[in-house]
Amino acid sequence: MVKVFKFGGASVNSVERIKNVAAILQQYPNQQLLVVISAMGKTTNALEKVAEAFYQQKKEEALQLFEQVKLQHITTAKYLLVTNYLACEAQLKDFFTEVEWLLHDRPVREYDYYYDQIVCSGELMSTAIVSHYLNEAGIRNEWMDVRDIIRTDDNFRDANIDWAFTQEKVNDLIRPVLDEGSLVLTQGFVGATDENESTTLGREGSDYTAAVFSNMLDAESQTIWKDVESVMNADPKEIADAVSIPELNYTEVIEMAYYGAQVIHPKTIKPLQNKSIPLFVKCFLNKDLPGTHIHNNTVRQLPPIIVIKRNQVMVELKSKDFSFIGEHNTEILYELFEKLFITPTLTQNGAISITYAFDNREEKISQFAAEASQNFDVQVTPGLTLLTIRHYDNASLKQYAEEKQFLVRQQTTQNIRLLYREG
Ligand code: ASP
Ligand code: MG
Repeated sequence: MVKVFKFGGASVNSVERIKNVAAILQQYPNQQLLVVISAMGKTTNALEKVAEAFYQQKKEEALQLFEQVKLQHITTAKYLLVTNYLACEAQLKDFFTEVEWLLHDRPVREYDYYYDQIVCSGELMSTAIVSHYLNEAGIRNEWMDVRDIIRTDDNFRDANIDWAFTQEKVNDLIRPVLDEGSLVLTQGFVGATDENESTTLGREGSDYTAAVFSNMLDAESQTIWKDVESVMNADPKEIADAVSIPELNYTEVIEMAYYGAQVIHPKTIKPLQNKSIPLFVKCFLNKDLPGTHIHNNTVRQLPPIIVIKRNQVMVELKSKDFSFIGEHNTEILYELFEKLFITPTLTQNGAISITYAFDNREEKISQFAAEASQNFDVQVTPGLTLLTIRHYDNASLKQYAEEKQFLVRQQTTQNIRLLYREG
């Protein structure tokens, strides 16, 4: 049976780290492996800047920024590769050309389209380098362009997968290579339309790609290799006595992600759960640590799970004409969320008002406030923190929630959430 591995950007962001990935893969010599890899380090952010500059018609700046991305990849390839360097360089240059050809044009289509054509190159470049290195290191693998496999609609930046078509491609193109004994190496996050336009599946989408492949290959398990020791009950940077969680079930992971825990992309769970495929979260810095095992069974006695989201902004909306907040009003707001790619982190309904919290991405929030003010009186309060404690108990309430001057407080039997002023 197949094992699916996903390596994120941090696991391939230097020559040493890429060598480390090879060392991990060497531990699975007689396994059928499909490996999904992200863009190196912060490449996706850098490429977003390229797309923005291009769309603002700052062509020179876009080319300049892309030049830096190119240099970074070429440099890594040079330090890493010996016999395969030239082949790798040729492959990288093809990807460079694909992007540069576009950057020399003028934008005539929507931003999201260009975003995807540019940003997808990060995954193509990183996987090309890793693939050539693995072959040099004696790990026979076949690099695949995921755009030949994952078929999506043209909802750029948040594309939806055509499952039937993709399943066929998995059967025709991936299965035989695995059966023949080669490791398959491909990109996360990226797909393509039926017109061969590149698409992306949403930021942090590589976990999801891996889960789609796990589902379609009926994998025995999926492993996400991260730079943390396991899933923890809190961010150790926020809470010093954060503890590892050895076991979780799928539902809990979805809940944790919903409340803002940076664990696993929430879309990842469904394809796995539907086929009861276990998910392991393991540390690529120390593969002997046990990590976290996520499955379908009930897990009792979870510790309180604490999620702190800083830099939140509260937006209060009151209907202008005193009408009740109903389907029509909320529909307007949800359309704005979709358009601006924002999602509330907290929602509180009243009769003629509705309150949201968001991550404070200032440009987007001011645009949201401006557009919403056509229908609502809008008040914006920045500088807030949102605390969620799942499975709270007296001790955790006392330690983290007491004495907070909150603006919003929500409590159920499972969770408590407080929105309060920072500082
Ligand atoms: N490279 C993409 C991102 O940074 C996808 C991923 O890493 O999952 O969002
Ligand atoms: Mg990433």
